[in-house]
Amino acid sequence: MSKQTKYIFVTGGVLSSLGKGIAAASIGTLLKSSGLKISILKADPYINVDPGTMSPLEHGEVFVTDDGAETDLDLGHYERFLDESLSQDNNFTTGRVYSSVIEKERRGDYLGKTIQVIPHIVGEIVERIKRAGEGKDILIVEIGGTVGDIEGLPFLEAIRALRTEVGRKNAMTIHLTLVPYIKVAGELKTKPTQHSVGELRRIGISPDMIICRSEMALNRELKDKIALSCGVEKNCVIESADSQSIYQIPLSFLKQDILTPIAEILALNELKPDMATWDSLVKRIIAPTGETTIAFVGKYIDLKESYKSLTESIIHAGANLDTRVNLKWVDSEKVDSENVDEILKDVDGVLVAGGFGERGIEGKIMAIKYARENNVPYLGICLGMQLALIEFARNVLKLPNANSVEFEPNCENPIIYLIDSFIDAHGEKQIRTHKSPLGGTMRLGAYECELKPKSLLAGVYGGAKTATERHRHRFEANPKYKSDYEKSGLVISGTSSNLIEAIELKEHKFFLGVQFHPEFTSRLTKPNPTILGFIDASIKNAKSK
Ligand code: GLN
Repeated sequence: MSKQTKYIFVTGGVLSSLGKGIAAASIGTLLKSSGLKISILKADPYINVDPGTMSPLEHGEVFVTDDGAETDLDLGHYERFLDESLSQDNNFTTGRVYSSVIEKERRGDYLGKTIQVIPHIVGEIVERIKRAGEGKDILIVEIGGTVGDIEGLPFLEAIRALRTEVGRKNAMTIHLTLVPYIKVAGELKTKPTQHSVGELRRIGISPDMIICRSEMALNRELKDKIALSCGVEKNCVIESADSQSIYQIPLSFLKQDILTPIAEILALNELKPDMATWDSLVKRIIAPTGETTIAFVGKYIDLKESYKSLTESIIHAGANLDTRVNLKWVDSEKVDSENVDEILKDVDGVLVAGGFGERGIEGKIMAIKYARENNVPYLGICLGMQLALIEFARNVLKLPNANSVEFEPNCENPIIYLIDSFIDAHGEKQIRTHKSPLGGTMRLGAYECELKPKSLLAGVYGGAKTATERHRHRFEANPKYKSDYEKSGLVISGTSSNLIEAIELKEHKFFLGVQFHPEFTSRLTKPNPTILGFIDASIKNAKSK
């Protein structure tokens, strides 16, 4: 029989957005660096089957895994912290749980039984948790939402039941709460923590450890008070005060000796993580030697959560290059031919991120034109590559009616077009697609890209022949214009079967467009080569000024 996986359940109290995902990922990082085999799972109580159809305005970024699952953005944190590639088994929602239970019911798998939340829904949740932990020493399970939410109840019941099943020493619960600072009283308040622990207890879960989010550090007395009132050991009250960088959090937990009680509770040998590389990278995030500024041109600049992986990947590249990368957020809807020079004149690089829909695209095209004409390093990601081709077609190939069929379905020069079936374009090769309920088909997940020898792109990947990166898009660059591009100095430097995956300009410091999303595979300890190459080019551009 295989070894029993141990579980660490992470729940949240008081309010959302406390950084449960980061806390879970931080603990995972320490455990992995101690030599344990770790995986991590996010169970989301909302009803959507997956976050693929959720607006970034509501839910932040949709993260994409290698196997093409569209997941909660916390999976991005997990991958970045743990340096592990996760899959669709690492995130599920109430919607997914109900869909599979209903499917089984329709198939007659339950042999005529009445299907109920307990045991069927809860049983399905338990099975999914177990599956995600197979073969691992420890599985960390983050329960989305806040204790007290109606839709969270089956999930809490599932972890309560699973803990009973696997026994003590094989499961523990960490509860993350808020300890607010009340200005007028000049005090940090513990009552919300006591209440939310009380709420957990009411449903049969006694947390083993409390992590307290607060604006400032908690003194010993306060920690002891929380320990006493919440019934946990004194060394099991850990603080998580606001910090300059999320990557400091594992180090802060380690300093508070979080691993000693975890090892005790789960009956593990002494845990001694090697965090030396991490520590030196964090020092470079906090106080780097160099500095560069890039323009981040997008339409959701007030909602930076929707570009989470990208902003994190820039932090990774900066840390590895010992440079602070300042982002100048540029709202693409406000860029026009009159002000573009003024907006971009002081930046060292221009970045146009991925996106959907027509809003703000002309401003992005204007910014790309500026970067191309002024020899400013440019990186275009997904939509950013598509728009770079449209800009080139309009202004260099002199095709004024160049556009994407996404914005102009019957356009005269469809530079970006729709492939009805990715399967046809790929011949025999199987392409994972996802038929969205809104009617479109998306190309999702990791694909190998062939890199043109000696190209800029091959150079950033250290001369490699191929690179594997993740995708999330519906439209493609139209190969009809290939020879026109090549005659005018635009190089197709990345291909995947017949699809155009990357473009670059010959006579330019650094002008690169990629159809894939390099940001999804970047980790603090392993920055993504495309992002690293772009930031490096921006640093060199800053120095040459
Ligand atoms: N909207 C474009 C497409 O669907 C680009 C998508 C993206 O940038 N992720 O192809």
